Amino acid sequence: MSTTTLPEQLSDTAREFAAREHELLIDGERVAAADGRTFETIDPSSARPITSVALAGPRDVDRAVQAARRALEDSEWATLPAAGRARLINRLADLIEEDAGTFAQLEALDNGKPVKIAKVVDVDGTVRFFRHFAGWCERVFGRVIPVRQPDMLCYTRKEPVGVCGQIIPWNFPMLMASWKLAPALAAGCTVVLKPAEQTPLSALRIGELALEAGIPAGVINVLTGAGETGAALVDHPGVDKIAFTGSTEVGREIGAKTGRALKRVTLELGGKSPNIILPDADLDAAVAGSFQGIYFNTGQACNAGSRLFVHRDQFDKVVAALAARASKSRVGPGLEPNTHLGPLVSQEQHKRVLSYIEAGRAEGAELVTGGGAGAAGDGYFVEPTLFTTGRDDLKIAREEIFGPVLVALPYETLEEVAARANETEYGLAAGVWTRDIGNAHRLASMLKAGSVYINCWGEVDAGAPFGGYKASGLGREHGGEGLEAYLETKTVWTKLA
Ligand code: ADP
Repeated sequence: MSTTTLPEQLSDTAREFAAREHELLIDGERVAAADGRTFETIDPSSARPITSVALAGPRDVDRAVQAARRALEDSEWATLPAAGRARLINRLADLIEEDAGTFAQLEALDNGKPVKIAKVVDVDGTVRFFRHFAGWCERVFGRVIPVRQPDMLCYTRKEPVGVCGQIIPWNFPMLMASWKLAPALAAGCTVVLKPAEQTPLSALRIGELALEAGIPAGVINVLTGAGETGAALVDHPGVDKIAFTGSTEVGREIGAKTGRALKRVTLELGGKSPNIILPDADLDAAVAGSFQGIYFNTGQACNAGSRLFVHRDQFDKVVAALAARASKSRVGPGLEPNTHLGPLVSQEQHKRVLSYIEAGRAEGAELVTGGGAGAAGDGYFVEPTLFTTGRDDLKIAREEIFGPVLVALPYETLEEVAARANETEYGLAAGVWTRDIGNAHRLASMLKAGSVYINCWGEVDAGAPFGGYKASGLGREHGGEGLEAYLETKTVWTKLA
């Protein structure tokens, strides 16, 4: 593949990697798909193809699952002490850190996000997640249970859940890979990772660096492909656990399949998260935080604060301040150093988000700012867009848009806003801006969401549980709860006399 059509900002290393014809990573080897199929990954800032990537089918899934099974049961990984796993995971973190510039450029190229954000959020976050979970390896303890039977030793062992199929989305490609891989490796599992078809590059590079770090062949297999590849992975009987981040629609399907097969599953799905500004809030901070809360990553975050509730008395002021910020945002290619908002990831998302904007207009919401594709070029750009409406039942106020579209809604009382905030099938995140500590924590307990942000939005830490209530998912990621999802508990009874 010619490298001349790739953006000039790319370093030689990023350019060389991006331009390769990418193959699958199975059992430590780079291999073509069994049936030779490929697809193109697209630069969303220009709508031009970057390169071709192997499209894994059921035979490749089978090969990868078998490799992961061998690595789990019959390899040096299977007998490696916990400290050895920690050393390898830390080594992988070091290699990613040394390669940070290349990773940031690959994410900016493949996903479209601003390269500076890719560095501080995606790459640095990935390194932190691997290091955090390296620390867990030697802290996986069973317990001795004080059972009622005399002369009995009863203890629990924590064992890896097994071969994990991990299916991830395109909004934070390498970070999502680390959220899945790090706890699985810490628990001693093996993995078949399926990156999103829109953004396969960084996961392939992590897979290669894992081998360089000394993580044995077959422990991490990377299968690039489409939804059908993910479905084949979910269906494969040799997979013990599925970890999925993506749309609620696909999550429901995976939940149903894994339920029937009685496979372990964790699901991190969509959201339509309410963000509430109380009348006593520090309005400057609330406006700045709410702006970031929706427009960060061009609105392509499952925990985006996409429904903004503002007290009627301050509504116009807050809306005007948000619109002023939006008009100063630079929309442009991810590799341009001054870009604030990159493009949406794909033509499909672009069409989808523009159709929601159209629906907002058609349903009578007031378009305060944005709404257009912008003048940034041929890529999949959408301006930061702000609607106001008094109606919670509009499509744009109910459905997840996954783009830079905020709906601001006025309210009058705290009880009213809590009820309206919870009136959604989702429950991923919620936010409260206030100086009143009592109201802050009253709302924190009333809001049905897996994460509540008080005077901040979207905070993440490798140790802090993350996941959804209701249709936003099943189970939690990060920290001890995240690790638990990769462990089975075995209870051992020993009669002593
Ligand atoms: P989006 O609509 O935002 O692209 P998806 O839920 O479709 O989100 O995709 C998230 C991940 O799930 C991607 O890696 C995608 O390839 C994969 N995927 C899509 N459909 C299925 C499916 N039916 N079974 C398993 N994985 C799927």
